[in-house]
Amino acid sequence: GGRSYSFMLRTKNPCGKVSNQLYLTMDDLADQFGIGTLRLTTRQTFQLHGVLKKDLKTVMSSIIRSMGSTLGACGDLNRNVLAPAAPLVRKDYLFAQQTAENIAAMLTPQSGFYYDVWVDGEQFLTAEPPEVTKARNDNSNGKNFTDSPEPIYGTQFLPRKFKIAVTVPTDNSVDILTNDIGVVVVTDDKGEPQGFNIYVGGGMGRTHRIETTFARLAEPLGYVPKEDILKAIKSIVEVQRDFGRRDDRKYSRMKYLISEWGIEKFRREVEDNYYQKKFEPSRTLPEWEFKSYLGWHEQGDGSLFCGLHVDNGRIGGKMKKTLREVISKYNLSIRLTPNQNIILCDIRNAWKRPITTTLAQAGLLHPRYVDPLNQTAMACPAFPLCPLAITEAERGIPDILKRVRAVFEKVGLKYNESVVIRVTGCPNGCARPYMAELGLVGDGPNSYQIWLGGTPNQTSIAKSFMNKVKVQDLEKVFEPLFYNWKRKRQAKESFGDFTIRMGFEKLQELVDKWE
Ligand code: SF4
Repeated sequence: GGRSYSFMLRTKNPCGKVSNQLYLTMDDLADQFGIGTLRLTTRQTFQLHGVLKKDLKTVMSSIIRSMGSTLGACGDLNRNVLAPAAPLVRKDYLFAQQTAENIAAMLTPQSGFYYDVWVDGEQFLTAEPPEVTKARNDNSNGKNFTDSPEPIYGTQFLPRKFKIAVTVPTDNSVDILTNDIGVVVVTDDKGEPQGFNIYVGGGMGRTHRIETTFARLAEPLGYVPKEDILKAIKSIVEVQRDFGRRDDRKYSRMKYLISEWGIEKFRREVEDNYYQKKFEPSRTLPEWEFKSYLGWHEQGDGSLFCGLHVDNGRIGGKMKKTLREVISKYNLSIRLTPNQNIILCDIRNAWKRPITTTLAQAGLLHPRYVDPLNQTAMACPAFPLCPLAITEAERGIPDILKRVRAVFEKVGLKYNESVVIRVTGCPNGCARPYMAELGLVGDGPNSYQIWLGGTPNQTSIAKSFMNKVKVQDLEKVFEPLFYNWKRKRQAKESFGDFTIRMGFEKLQELVDKWE
């Protein structure tokens, strides 16, 4: 028979916000047109795999009708804007989320070609705040494409995909430094948002054996008062549009431009020719922390929210059925986290007990349902869904985590001690393996490059430690590393910090002489 093409579709949900109606629609679509499971991504969106071409139009109109858009989820333009998923009713969180939505709206393509093609021009309107429209169309630097339907992107869009995250001080649930632009709300003593620290030039993707490609952390660009944020973001995007490399996709992310120019030159170009103002010095902020939001929490407005772990972001089987039941019965809205988990929002106190019972019956709230190693672990889809995959990730990680757990037991590490483990099927790094304490990056059939040196709060970049470790040989590396961490670590020293302090030469020695 003829070959049937199947498609992958990704939604766009700034801050991971998903209405009750959109969740139920996605849940239905996964059954009707997909492979029966819902997948949450590391950018707070849904991915629907296995959609047949003949069904594409129906699926997309259903998503659009329930106010989820797929516009700009792929391609060389701004991807889904991240923000903390927690529905906390706090000025800084709300402001971060509002800013993420405004940035997303400003950087959404205007032309509508996409809808014309796929849904026969069926209109989908979002109401956007006037300051967003103004910021997008503002022609003060004379360089934007005011005659084009795309005042920011022009006719050529960007050299490459572009990623932005917004958060508040201490909350690094968004992996802030892995983005092209990271934006952090700065508040005054009373918690009133005043402006933002901006970080630029982060990115994960690299290519094996080409040392001039690399994962990179975003670095401080400066501070802007809150009223200037859209202009500042637009200016940065325009510099990448005008100067980012277009001749070689391997080097077209903004991190390579900043790395080549240096931050001083980049800042000057943005200031002098686009933003037309000076950035103020970055404000000093407290240490970053990883926040999972798992379990029950107060929202701050009398309601509760409940974060649930989703292994590798894949919702299927009993979990899918139970979530649907709870979400539809109580008419809950949800949020997707950048760690591929789900948060049930706006739960009244009176519902806590019955919801707890239902979730517990499905095994979703049992304390040992999720091994602490799984709670921080991530894997990309890889085989069989991603055409770039070199080896397994999502399908392989359950077994890898079990083996790490077995090594922990063997060397005497306790159940609640944790290490951030991330696995990807290729060096593109979709599950951000270069920020992990232990990153496995596919580098051949059934083999991984091993990366060490990330930290539990995702603030330092890992380095590649070993190449081509066969999947069946992983214990030969894990055992000596964890054995020595257990014995030689300083008080409370994380595995990542331990590997940095020891140095790779020493670690390599320990691995080589391990029997
Ligand atoms: Fe595909 Fe590579 Fe991304 Fe994994 S990291 S999803 S294999 S592109």
